[in-house]
This record gives sequence, C-alpha cells and structure tokens, in this order.
Amino acid sequence: MTEQLQKTDLKNMTRDELKAFMKEMGLPAFRGEQIFTWMHNGAVSFDEMTNLPQKLREQLSEQCMITCHEIARVQSSKTDGTKKYLFRLADGNTIESVFMKYKFGNSICVSTQAGCRMGCRFCASTIGGLCRNLTAAEILEEILAVQRDTGERISNIVLMGSGEPFDNYDNVTKFLELVHDPKGLNLSLRNITLSTCGILPNMRRFGDEFPQVNLAVSLHASNSELRSTLMPINKKYPMDELMEVCREHVEKTGRRITFEYTLVKGVNDKDENLSQLTKLLGGMNCHVNLIPMNPVSERDFKGTDRRFAEEFCKKLEKKGIQATVRRELGSDIDAACGQLRLNSQK
Ligand code: SAH
Repeated sequence: MTEQLQKTDLKNMTRDELKAFMKEMGLPAFRGEQIFTWMHNGAVSFDEMTNLPQKLREQLSEQCMITCHEIARVQSSKTDGTKKYLFRLADGNTIESVFMKYKFGNSICVSTQAGCRMGCRFCASTIGGLCRNLTAAEILEEILAVQRDTGERISNIVLMGSGEPFDNYDNVTKFLELVHDPKGLNLSLRNITLSTCGILPNMRRFGDEFPQVNLAVSLHASNSELRSTLMPINKKYPMDELMEVCREHVEKTGRRITFEYTLVKGVNDKDENLSQLTKLLGGMNCHVNLIPMNPVSERDFKGTDRRFAEEFCKKLEKKGIQATVRRELGSDIDAACGQLRLNSQK
C-alpha cells in the first residue's frame, strides 16, 4: 500500500498536466489524452487501456497509479433508489458519498475531506476532527466509483458531504476543473452546487473564479450570537460579514444564493428566529432550504418535526422569502452527513 502511495497518481492530473507529464516521459502528448479519456470513463487499471502499447502500460504500472476507491459498505434505500456509499481510501481512511435519483437526472453528494475541523454542533462529520484533505482525484473517484457500481451516469454534483470545501480550496477547485473537462465527465458548472459554512476569503475568491457554480451557505441561525453557539466558524467570520460577502456574491454572479437552515427544535425554530431571518434576508436574491435536523446520537439536539418545519416554511414565504423544506431522500438509511462513517468506526 505504501508503495502505491508513492507512485504518481495520474487521476489527479488535469488533461494538460497529463499531456505535459507524457512529454516528460519522452512520449507524445496524445498518450495523455488517451489515458485521461480512459480514466474518466471509469478505467481503474492500465491493462484496460487497450489503445496503449503493452510496453507503455507496463511502464506506467511501475511508475504511476490510478486512485480507486474500495466500497466498504453500501446502503440502498428501498423506497427511492438512494444509495449511500462508504469508501475506503488507500491509506485506510473512510469517506461517504450519496447517490440520489431525481426526475431531472442522477445526483451525487460528495465528501471533500475525511472528517472535518469546523466543529458545527449538530454535525456528525466533525466528531473526531479532520483526518485529512481529499485530493482532487479522490473526490472525482467518488463519482466514477458510483457510476461503475450503478451503471448510471451522474449529471449533478453537490459538494455537501463530509468536510468543508473551502478548507480544501485548491483540491476542490481542481476537482471542478476535472469534471468540467469536455473530454472528461463534461459536466456543466451550473449543475454543481457547493455548500460552505462561510470561510469568507475563499468564498470571495470562488465567486471570482467559479461564478457559474451554485453556492449554498450554511446559515442555521437568525442572529450572530446564536450562530456562534452552533457554528464555531462564526467567531472567526461573524454573520454580518458573511451576509456582506453573500450580497457581494449575488451581485457579482447575478445568481441566486441558497441558505441552508437546519431546524433544531427549540433552538433556532422560534417565532423570533423567523422575524430575524425575514429582516436578514429580505430583498435579497436568495432561497432558504430548511432541513429538519437529523438527530445524531452523539449530540443532545433534537430536530424540528416535519410538520412544524413546513409551517416555518409557509410563514417565511408569506413574508416574501423563498423557502422550501428539503425533500428527504434515503430517510430509511443513515442519512445525515457523516453518520455512516461514524457508525462504521464504532
Ligand atoms: N461544510 C459544508 C458542507 C458539508 S455539510 C457546510 O457547512 O455547508 C452539508 C450541510 O449539511 C450543511 O448545511 C450542514 O450544516 C448540514 N448538516 C450537518 N449535519 C446535519 C444534521 N445532523 N442534520 C441536518 N443537516 C445537517
């Protein structure tokens, strides 16, 4: 395994990098194109690359590797086709991805880190802290592995699994370049949504570099004091600054921003929260995604029940704030962020 880890991971290269790498090996650049196409079509070994000379395939196997995830566990929903994967990485770490079927196509929720260091109070991914950042190849392989397993193509990506994407900025943006490549998965950036807890310098940078990607911001509170008790990041980047950056983002990109609001019973779902939220978001091109909190046994919080969440939603809409209660897919399997991984470590 350590030997594998020392080899150059070709899946982690953009098409241009791969072409340059081939040239360095004294080979024509088109070999890089061929390898890129194979890998992004799901090939996991050089043996499969039948249009490469046998000798080159042998040379590549000696010097290089292609990241490939082992499926440690799969949970399939009996009701809606949702599949939750626990993947084992080459170094033994585990990560989760969720495959979901919608009318508009197939969607995947990917993890960007093994663990997380943001410390949100209601979230299972952060228990145990951050193990490490995922490489661009490892994030991409979540998609390729799911496509291989299901035999279906994925058309939409949400970066809402374990980890904070803006705490792993370079690898996450490289991943976006990889999936956007016309010779790769060729996904439109508009079919991708990234969710952040609000690391502001990177949020600004992202708006400049990837204005087409949908941005979702984990808000979860209607005032800064409350937000600090739920999300430690708010102490570093307080809510008023967050809202300023969000407004800038909407202006800069001309696109609607989504606010995620996990409803925690008796904590952030009261009438006063509703009126504060209305003031905070009024007049902004945004949408609120209400998520009844998924209870995590390690945490003492309780989720708001769905009926109450729907009431909350209606009241927001009446005040002119667009809102929906997130549809629950895969509710018969460990659905909340980080739960499958956590339960597998027990
Ligand atoms: N770090 C990023 C993305 C990962 S979390 C972020 O904070 O946005 C994806 C979403 O799931 C976030 O909105 C997060 O707050 C929410 N979430 C985490 N744990 C949850 C739980 N137990 N119930 C409901 N939503 C949860």
